[in-house]
Amino acid sequence: MSEGRHAVVLGAGIAGLLAARVLSDYFSQVTIFERDSVEGAEVRRGVPQARHLHGLLDRGRTIIEQLYPGFTSEMASCGATTAEALIGTRWYVGGLRVVPTSTGLTSVMATRPLLESVLRQRTLAAPGVRLCEGAARGLIGDADRVRAVSVSGEYGAQAHATDLVVDATGRGSRAPVWLTALGAQAPAEDRLEVDLGYASRMFRRTPGQLGGHSSVIISTGANGRGGGAIRVEGDRWHVTLAGMLGDHPPTDPIGFAAFASTIAAPDIHEIVTTSEPLDDAVPHRFRSPVRRRFERLDAVPQGFLVLGDAFCSFNPLYAQGMAVAAQQALALRDCLSDGPDSADLPARFYSAAGKVVDVAWQLAAGADLSHPGVLGPRTARTRLTNAYVARVHRAAHVDPLVARTFMRVANLIEPSTALLRPRVAGRIMLRGSSSTAAVSDFDGQPSVDRTPIPIEPTR
Ligand SMILES: Cc1cc2nc3c(=O)[nH]c(=O)nc-3n(C[C@H](O)[C@H](O)[C@H](O)COP(=O)(O)OP(=O)(O)OC[C@H]3O[C@@H](n4cnc5c(N)ncnc54)[C@H](O)[C@@H]3O)c2cc1C
Repeated sequence: MSEGRHAVVLGAGIAGLLAARVLSDYFSQVTIFERDSVEGAEVRRGVPQARHLHGLLDRGRTIIEQLYPGFTSEMASCGATTAEALIGTRWYVGGLRVVPTSTGLTSVMATRPLLESVLRQRTLAAPGVRLCEGAARGLIGDADRVRAVSVSGEYGAQAHATDLVVDATGRGSRAPVWLTALGAQAPAEDRLEVDLGYASRMFRRTPGQLGGHSSVIISTGANGRGGGAIRVEGDRWHVTLAGMLGDHPPTDPIGFAAFASTIAAPDIHEIVTTSEPLDDAVPHRFRSPVRRRFERLDAVPQGFLVLGDAFCSFNPLYAQGMAVAAQQALALRDCLSDGPDSADLPARFYSAAGKVVDVAWQLAAGADLSHPGVLGPRTARTRLTNAYVARVHRAAHVDPLVARTFMRVANLIEPSTALLRPRVAGRIMLRGSSSTAAVSDFDGQPSVDRTPIPIEPTR
């Protein structure tokens, strides 16, 4: 612990809370500035995505459990559902259900506001951590060192001197503009245009629905449509429908139900048409995943870091954002343990955080690029990989070992190369050809699988 040292975190979303928890082990004071007023488990203005289904990949859950021991059971005691990933829930890829089998993965199903409020309470219980209302406006310092942050609040803008500023203000982060204003370099950006639309609605759950399963998740099929229904606190179904490339789900009740009838499994349509709705459907538009290449900058100022969606905002279909924020929080902890005061802390952090992003970005971008309408570079390797992924999905419908490995890779627990291990690859080749598994999309079109499982070795 650096006595008398102060860190400031901008943003009290998932990434900001996890970063503050880690920083509290190394700084005697950690101040989080959040633009919204934050009370209870409500959807806040600054986090509109909180109205939509938020799945927590098991890699994220296990890291959070490490940082906040007892997290999973605390969520359950607040009404979240927990289940073994492939036994308590139904997964569909390529139009068919993945064979139920033990995966060693635990799904925690809850709304994003509940998840955030549990993490917030636990973070604020850590020594030296406090949460203040205020919107960050810019950095104070020069290209070599950030010394303070300007935050506007009740009494106008104020400068807060600090030893370290961590930007966790999400996808809309102004870090590139702030860095440029200091005379420092701003990162280059990678984008893919996916023009994804979400629509979400809550329904009352009645006992016995879905054969006692807690959720059904459908990855996008050849038609670019997908969705999920999960059992959340308050015994409700949280249903999200999604469509890519401008094919967005409607929010009126008839259009919502009609869209649900076009996705790969009948379960979600059944929930939507047989359960009592508890609110109106709300839309969300997500045009493009954005990756900011902080790890490629030649020089970065001391005293300033960026993480979470501000670093990389993923296509939400693959539920990677919170797990990657958790991995980056662990990377921050490792960098701090190697020297919280060293001048190269930001460079070391960006290098480690960039590697974390690489793995998830490759998985997601590979899946996005399997949609012909998504513009982007498709090498021979991309095509080969996607052909293999199609086999993985077909084999996962019938083969428990393939299903287990597939789910563990998608949950960022195992590297994608696990799908190339001889025992697994042999079964994929044997059971994944189109003649051995009857695979079709719900609309009867030939199946092209879209779940993010590229098997290229990561750099
Ligand atoms: C529709 C949708 C669905 C998603 N589904 C999933 C999912 O299923 N699983 C998953 O893991 N991820 C999902 N994500 C991504 C997930 O929401 C984020 O990756 C995750 O919350 C981490 O983001 P963050 O904390 O960096 O940013 P955010 O959660 O966006 O939080 C940023 C915070 O910063 C605050 N803020 C912004 N500007 C300022 C400022 N100037 N000063 C002070 N405070 C500021 C905001 O009010 C907010 O509280 C989804 C995203 C979207 C858009």
